[in-house]
Amino acid sequence: MSEVVAIKPHEKYYGVYVVELEDGSMRLATKNLVPGHRVYGERLFRYENVEYREWNMYRSKLAGALANGLSEQPIRESDSILYLGVATGTTASHISDIIGLKGRIYGVEFAPRVMREFVALADVRKNLYPILADARKPQLYRHVVELVDGVYADIAQPEQASVVADNADYFLKHNGYLLLAIKARSIDVTKEPSEVYRREIETLKNRGFEIVDVVHLEPYDKDHAMVYARFKR
Ligand code: SAM
Repeated sequence: MSEVVAIKPHEKYYGVYVVELEDGSMRLATKNLVPGHRVYGERLFRYENVEYREWNMYRSKLAGALANGLSEQPIRESDSILYLGVATGTTASHISDIIGLKGRIYGVEFAPRVMREFVALADVRKNLYPILADARKPQLYRHVVELVDGVYADIAQPEQASVVADNADYFLKHNGYLLLAIKARSIDVTKEPSEVYRREIETLKNRGFEIVDVVHLEPYDKDHAMVYARFKR
């Protein structure tokens, strides 16, 4: 296994680190909030007495979006985030590293088996708040979620943009950010967006979002693009 040569803060992305390995390859990483603890079999790196977790671009769409040059990484330390479709917490664990113990992730997931793993993760990572619920019914969890700095959505459902907008109306601050993994199969999103993709972006615009950037996730994920937007109340 290749040794670490250096680990440096990413020049462009807040809370993200670049790991340089002996074989010349580079990896993305976050500082491990819970040293010694892995979440999805990722590699741990130690450098100058700090432990980092590799952020795998093939496993996390946000890492793929950063590797493909998203204009900004908007998540900051202490942020509160509503995460729709949190699953077992692969991506959420890296966001958890970035926001630290003063931040919160409200993780919404409707599949009980998957949620069980996320609940176990929340035992270890104290900034995770599991919510077993259907993201299409935000009124059912409005009493447990505060006004948040950002929404992350990856629910892999039709009409995802309107589900996101319904949640934003309840929970997202003015100028809050949205990171949305959107279906954009096999098409160059900058040239010829698919009908589904175009409709989803239109829905976001009609519901108060300003689109900041869209990047396709190829080669890390062939089916999706990441939309980064800001919400204007
Ligand atoms: N974002 C995760 C990550 O990167 O670690 C992966 C999410 S996976 C692609 C999509 C998840 O959304 C699944 O676990 C699925 O059960 C969940 N999901 C789909 N529709 C949902 C809904 N209406 N409400 C809550 N969760 C939903």
